[in-house]
Amino acid sequence: GGKRLYLGMDFGTSGARYTLIDKDGIIHSERKREYPKYMSKGVMDWVQSWKLTLFQLLEDIPDEFRALIASISIDGTSATIMIIDSTTGEPLSRPFLYNESCPDAVSVVTSIAPVNHTVCSSTSTLCKLVSWWNSYGSSKESAVLLHQADWLLWLLHGKLGVSDYNNALKVGYDPELESYPPWLLSQAYSYVLPSVQAPGTFVGLVKEDIRTRYGLPKDCAICTGTTDSIAAFLAARATQTGKSVTSLGSTLAIKLLSTNRIDDARYGVYSHRLDDKWLVGGASNTGGAVLKQIFTDEQLKNLSKQIDPIKASPLDYYPLQTVGERFPVADPKLAPRLTPRPESDVDYLHGILESIARIEGEGYKLLTELGATQVEEVFTAGGGARNETWTKIRERILGLPVSRAQQTEAAYGAALLALKGVQ
Ligand code: ADP
Repeated sequence: GGKRLYLGMDFGTSGARYTLIDKDGIIHSERKREYPKYMSKGVMDWVQSWKLTLFQLLEDIPDEFRALIASISIDGTSATIMIIDSTTGEPLSRPFLYNESCPDAVSVVTSIAPVNHTVCSSTSTLCKLVSWWNSYGSSKESAVLLHQADWLLWLLHGKLGVSDYNNALKVGYDPELESYPPWLLSQAYSYVLPSVQAPGTFVGLVKEDIRTRYGLPKDCAICTGTTDSIAAFLAARATQTGKSVTSLGSTLAIKLLSTNRIDDARYGVYSHRLDDKWLVGGASNTGGAVLKQIFTDEQLKNLSKQIDPIKASPLDYYPLQTVGERFPVADPKLAPRLTPRPESDVDYLHGILESIARIEGEGYKLLTELGATQVEEVFTAGGGARNETWTKIRERILGLPVSRAQQTEAAYGAALLALKGVQ
C-alpha cells in the first residue's frame, strides 16, 4: 500500500486537539478546538460537548488524509469517568470530572484499600465510583465504568468496557499483576470495572457507520489510549530508561523512565507502567506561576538574556505561590522564600531560576534515593522550556544534558500509541 497516517486525539481540560503523523513521526495535520458550551437543563453537558468535539475534529481532518488513517488512539484527563448502561450505551449519571472530589467515599475506600494507596485520594476514580454506587437509586445491573478516553474510543469501536492500565490506575488496577487486586474484586460493584489492556493495544476496527461517514479506510484500527499527562510524556519520545521530562509550566513536574516501580505517598510519588518500564513521577508546587507573579513573559525574556548562566548565584530561595510543598520536600507548612530581593532584577531572576533548578535536582535525587533508575538526560516541556539561559543553568546544577523536547503535545503522544497499536 501507499502512505499510512496515525491519528492521536487529546481531550484536555479546556479543549481537544488532534495530531496526524506518519510512521516517521512527521506531523501532517493538526488542529485544536475549545469545547463548545453545550448546556442541558442549565448545566454544562460534558458528554455532548466531548462527543461533538470528537466528531468536529474528525471532520476537520482534510478528506485526503482521512482516507489514509491506519489507526486512532485517544488520551483523556486522568480520573474523568462516566458510568454507562451497557444495554443502551447511555450514561447513567453525569460524568465525574478529573478534579471533582468525593469526600463522602474516602472513609469507605480507606477501609478496603492498602494504606496510602492512590485510590484513597478523594478525587480518585474509586472514590467517584463508590460515591455513585452509594447514591444511585435505580437498577445498577448493567452499569459499566469508563474513563473519558475509553468512552470516546468506544464511540469509534463500539466494544463497551475496555480501558488501559494508565487510566485504570486510579480505580485501583494493579499494572504489575495485570489485574484488579483481591480487595477490589471482592466488592459488590467490581462487575462495573472495565477490562484493561496496555496503552496502544488494538481493540477493534472503526465502526462501519463512522467509517463511511468520514471516509476512513476499511482496516482503520482503534487502539487503547492513556491519560493526558502520560501522552505528553510519550510525545517527547524519551523511550529509554534514565531519560526524563521536566515540565516547567505553572508548576514543576518530573517524569522519569525507570526499570523499576517506586511509590511513596509521603511525597506524592507514584509509577505508571509503560510496557516493560515504569514512568515515575513527582510534582513540586514551585514553577512558572511564581515567576508570572513577579515578571511578565517579556521581562522574563529580556532579563534572562542578561544572566550569565555559567556563574552561580549566591541567592537561595524556595519559590512557592502559597504555603506548602509535597515533593521533593514533604512539608505542608513550608513557607515561600523569595527574600532577600537584590536591587537588580537580573540578579533576582537569576536567583529564582537557579533555586528552581536546585529543587528540580533535589527531585531527581529523591527519585534515585527511593530506588528509581538514575536520570541521565532531561528533556523539557512547558513555558520554561523556551528559556535557553535557564536550560544552561539547569545543565550546570543537574550535571546532565538538558534540552527542549521536540514534541510536547499530548495529541502527538496519542498518535504514537495509534502507531504502536498497528505495528
Ligand atoms: P501551564 O502549566 O499553565 O500550562 P505553560 O506550560 O503554558 O503553563 O507555561 C507557562 C509558564 O511559563 C508561566 O508560568 C510563565 O511564568 C512561564 N514562562 C513563560 N515564559 C518564560 C520564560 N521565558 N522563562 C521562564 N519561564 C517562562
